Amino acid sequence: MITFAAGPSKVYDSLPTYLQEAYQEGILSANHRSGAFMQLYQETESLMRQKLHMPEDYKLIFTSSATENWEIISQSIVERASFHIYSGSFGKKWIEFAKHIIPATDGLKIQANETVDAASLTISEGFDLIAITQNETSNGSQVRMEYLEEIREKYPEKLIAVDTTSSMAGIELDFSLGDIWYASVQKCFGLPAGLGVLILSPRAIAQTERKGEKGRYNSLSFMLENARSYQTHYTPNVLGIYLLNRVLQDMQEIQHIDQNLRRRMSQLEDCVAKTKTLRLLVDNQQARSTTVLGVTGLEDTISQVKKAAEKEGMQLGSGYGPLKPISFRIANFPAITDAEMEKLIAFLSQY
Ligand SMILES: *Cc1c(COP(=O)(O)O)cnc(C)c1O
Repeated sequence: MITFAAGPSKVYDSLPTYLQEAYQEGILSANHRSGAFMQLYQETESLMRQKLHMPEDYKLIFTSSATENWEIISQSIVERASFHIYSGSFGKKWIEFAKHIIPATDGLKIQANETVDAASLTISEGFDLIAITQNETSNGSQVRMEYLEEIREKYPEKLIAVDTTSSMAGIELDFSLGDIWYASVQKCFGLPAGLGVLILSPRAIAQTERKGEKGRYNSLSFMLENARSYQTHYTPNVLGIYLLNRVLQDMQEIQHIDQNLRRRMSQLEDCVAKTKTLRLLVDNQQARSTTVLGVTGLEDTISQVKKAAEKEGMQLGSGYGPLKPISFRIANFPAITDAEMEKLIAFLSQY
């Protein structure tokens, strides 16, 4: 069975080899204050620069999930309040986490089909951070880099935090347009869950230090203090970090992956658009995701397609939240091979 679920998602086919080698190399028993671990951390950070084009002066921090990153941002970085721009369930969860910690948190909900219009935004002085769900996994929409750029230009003094949980390592991100970028590895990195990555600009680091929040297990100031010497403040998920390192080593540079995912997504979109019974959930191409496609139809059709796909050995991702009965989602993640995607396209074209 091959899964097209959008997370946890299909892991890379090379995973069994990586796991075997992790064991053989002895890294799994290495102390997190040892030279072996520090080297693994440093090398992984440098691979993030080489393969994903993370800037030289940005810092990589390991956490346990994207959800944890939501909390860290409000707790350790935001000084006044965050302003959230979102269209779906993950963005909504993020703003709810933030409100829990900082009641003055506010935001703007847009439609999945809508693009962010920077010109009409008014975000007051009361907000020092803008939070954007760049790829909304629940409905298959995305905020393209050009819109991020407009927001950056309009509010150069505010920090920008970007949820790229289901796009980092799939599309090319322009990290200079944001200060805080994060993901977890069970989506485009093609790895088992249990590791989050948090990427910080020098401004985000400076603000964290100014805020000086400490005392909790996931206080960012502790993480940064340890990260300076490529250590972590608690015993981390070394296996997860090792696997991330191996995936980064073996992957092509992001611009090539990005190009291939775009090519595949446009084939998939064409195929769905030509069917008689299925429609694209997001019909505005400017707002549509490159890595997750939402497909909608009548409830009966959706359940019938999902069942038929399973018979062919393909598991489609269920709709998320309120969209569950009337949609399914297809992950167009790099660990899914071209041949697997072609098989899915051939299957869907009969509807
Ligand atoms: C999956 C996902 C999350 C949550 O990730 P966890 O690793 O489960 O915390 C957050 N945001 C987006 C956009 C996601 O796709």
